[in-house]
Amino acid sequence: METLSPRMPKVPPDFPRGVKLLHDPVRNKGTAFSPEERTLLGLRGLLPPRQQSQDLQVRRVMENVRGKTTDLERYIFLVSLQDRNETLFYRVVVDHLDEIMPIIYTPTVGQACVRYGHNFRRPRGMFLSAEDRGSVGDILMNWPHEDVRIIVVTDGERILGLGDQGANGMGIPVGKLALYSACAGIHPTKCLPITLDVGTDNEELLQDPLYIGLQRRRMRGAAYEEFLEEFVEAVMERFPRAVVQLEDFATANAFHLLDKYRGRVASFDDDIQGTGAVALAGIYSALRITEQPLTEQRFLFLGAGEAGIGIGDLIVAALMDEGMDEAEARKRCWFVDSRGLVESTRTNLADHKLPYAHEHAPLTDLEEAVRTLKPTGLIGVSGVPQTFTQGVVTALGELNERPIVFALSNPTSKAECTARQAYTWTNGRAVFASGSPFDPVDHGGRTFVPGQGNNAYIFPGVGLGAIAADAREVTDEMFFLAAKTLASMVSEHDLAIGRIYPSLQMIREVSKRIAVVVAETAYERGLARAPRPDDLDTAIVKLMFDPHQYPPYV
Ligand code: NAD
Repeated sequence: METLSPRMPKVPPDFPRGVKLLHDPVRNKGTAFSPEERTLLGLRGLLPPRQQSQDLQVRRVMENVRGKTTDLERYIFLVSLQDRNETLFYRVVVDHLDEIMPIIYTPTVGQACVRYGHNFRRPRGMFLSAEDRGSVGDILMNWPHEDVRIIVVTDGERILGLGDQGANGMGIPVGKLALYSACAGIHPTKCLPITLDVGTDNEELLQDPLYIGLQRRRMRGAAYEEFLEEFVEAVMERFPRAVVQLEDFATANAFHLLDKYRGRVASFDDDIQGTGAVALAGIYSALRITEQPLTEQRFLFLGAGEAGIGIGDLIVAALMDEGMDEAEARKRCWFVDSRGLVESTRTNLADHKLPYAHEHAPLTDLEEAVRTLKPTGLIGVSGVPQTFTQGVVTALGELNERPIVFALSNPTSKAECTARQAYTWTNGRAVFASGSPFDPVDHGGRTFVPGQGNNAYIFPGVGLGAIAADAREVTDEMFFLAAKTLASMVSEHDLAIGRIYPSLQMIREVSKRIAVVVAETAYERGLARAPRPDDLDTAIVKLMFDPHQYPPYV
């Protein structure tokens, strides 16, 4: 008979044992189970005899990751690890964030989405399809975890810069939630990735027998609206304390759904608001380098979609915070889209562009726009590579001692210019940031470390703060304060090497500090449903799951 050592806690009767435990990714420790645990939990003989520490397990994982020949293979290997042993997976992500984040998130996750059906192994998250209309509430009951606190949901129509990927878009909510757990310590069982499969208009997928989604065209109009409404109602019923992050919806739907639902359910759109905050934080840091006030800036955007308008709106909020009136603040942001300068004589402008349609003669050429509008900063969010040409960047450099150049389009191949181009064309004067990582650049005897305006600096902390306070609403003010908090964590050393964001190694501390500010705001504004703890900071740290410890039996 198995005997309990005095040190061993009592195992609850419903705790999985034997093979079932080894197949439970939340509780599995693999070779790290101790001899006592193996005896107690019916694992003897089911594992190789030698107990290995988590450190050794990490070593094995990294050896495997580095031994793969492509990033997509690395992605597949890591997702399989996540399916087997979540604690180890998160330990690997947290300890090797620089190396692993570009694999489990952008850019590799994009390739993973494109190939999702072909590489499909195990389902993760929930798929709600157009055929489930009328039973979404019942289907949500199938999710095994009761206390879901954060949902990332997409309908797959605008996956990164890759367009309509239909149900294959599931890679995005899965990846984003992995970052919530890694960067802000939100326990994986509290995270739910959801893909709304409303069909796809991607011909290649419709013809592909291995595609995993419905083989039908996208549901649109009233049917789409009703499906979204049913989804939101069902979520509020089943997971009333969940924050809902809208992700990678097509531009018009993204603005519309955010407007429609943000007052009803604690929700936000990372592509709009998260991007706004990370870019504003970068601007605050850039201004420490240029030694100029925000109120003297004028920004020219290439691209007037979710990212561009999200950034513009938050810059406006920041200028208003410094006392500028709204009309004047809006005039500090100018946009060029695929049809040229957004200005007041243009017809059929989408609603989200209207506040930025200032009076001006039409312009179609970006270099001409730079020379005419004389911006202090250029922000690239068009998804079109090499649009910040030498002429454009040189023109900006002629106007400004320290020109601000943010080439934010993802993946790296879509960036409006490379880091090297920005530094070379301005003779090292540009303050540069990108959306995807660029390697350090040597120029004129100096090494520049380009900052990556990664949304992962913002959304995990915002989500954690909203969860901590059980916020009824996630507000623009919270994103503004998150941006200020992130900017405040950039050191003089970071700035000296041209890096306008803190090192990724700091990300859990960044998330924690943002969470404190966000939760505090929820309390101050009467939006919190949880009682305020005496020590908010400590309460938030306690919420953060640390994968360096395997969980106890319960
Ligand atoms: P979107 O589709 O909503 O908007 C794209 C905009 O670019 C539209 O206004 C479109 O008219 C414009 N555009 C297209 N072709 C153009 C051209 N040739 N010249 C000028 N404008 C053109 O997409 P989005 O969500 O706003 O994302 C845009 C880009 O920003 C993507 O590449 C995305 O990866 C990137 N992004 C980066 C970050 C980040 O760095 N943290 C965050 C979000 C998005």
